[in-house]
Amino acid sequence: MMSQKPSAIVTGAGSGIGRAIALRLAADGYAVLVNDLSEDRALSVASEIVEAGGAATAVAGDVARPEDVAVVHAAAVAAHGDVALLVNNAGIAHQAAFEHLEVGDFDRMFAVHVRGNFLMTKAVLPSMLARGEGVIINIASQLGQIGGIELVHYSGAKAAIIGMTKSLAREVSSRGVRVNAVAPGPINTPLVQGLSAEWQERKKRELPLGRFGEPDEVAATVAFLASPAASLFVGQTLGPNSGDVML
Ligand code: NAP
Repeated sequence: MMSQKPSAIVTGAGSGIGRAIALRLAADGYAVLVNDLSEDRALSVASEIVEAGGAATAVAGDVARPEDVAVVHAAAVAAHGDVALLVNNAGIAHQAAFEHLEVGDFDRMFAVHVRGNFLMTKAVLPSMLARGEGVIINIASQLGQIGGIELVHYSGAKAAIIGMTKSLAREVSSRGVRVNAVAPGPINTPLVQGLSAEWQERKKRELPLGRFGEPDEVAATVAFLASPAASLFVGQTLGPNSGDVML
């Protein structure tokens, strides 16, 4: 029988921030479609949710591939009903000096972050507009606001997500769909733990708060933006970033 809980999709939810968002939304009463590239990781997070008494379904898929996006969306609707909340979180990290940046690195970065965001949003938006309600939350990065050395492709993709968030919010908010972005600073996830120890130590010293964020602190921002308490937030980019960027 179909669950009565509102239906949410979280992409890239097998690890790090996406996992924390999926767990938090499930605890807040959503039935969560846990997507990840890796089926094992998606299943493991979905099991964690179910074992804690929540509702979740795992579906592997690449958000940059239209056929995978169709499968993820159809599975969410079949298991949990029309999608009330989409969190576009899937992302990859890659760093290279501009002279060494290959077109393939650039294309993959934009495929996962920008094309993936576009395809997932295209999938869920028609039914949100038909129902006159829905929430879309895009995980950007503070590097999309301030740029980053050896991160032209990553920062560019994240800046594109912020621009897409603002444009779509202008287009659809009067029809009941709220679109916002979250631009985290450094967060303790495999993505950041893969960077050099020197970089991590230097970065911590620079932060007003003196520490990286934890994934559940980003999830708290997402939970807020998803909630009716955020009814006036439209096209905004919130920054859980340890004070690194103050706008
Ligand atoms: P993470 O631990 O590496 O998690 C990202 C997840 O997304 C991984 O499980 C990854 O799978 C999955 N994924 C990658 N490409 C995908 C695709 N095409 N389709 C579906 N899933 C895909 O990274 P994270 O730190 O939690 O990052 C989550 C999001 O936050 C990203 O958008 C990232 O850019 C953003 N962010 C992170 C930080 C930070 O400091 N950690 C700061 C600002 C923004 P694989 O591991 O198999 O690739």
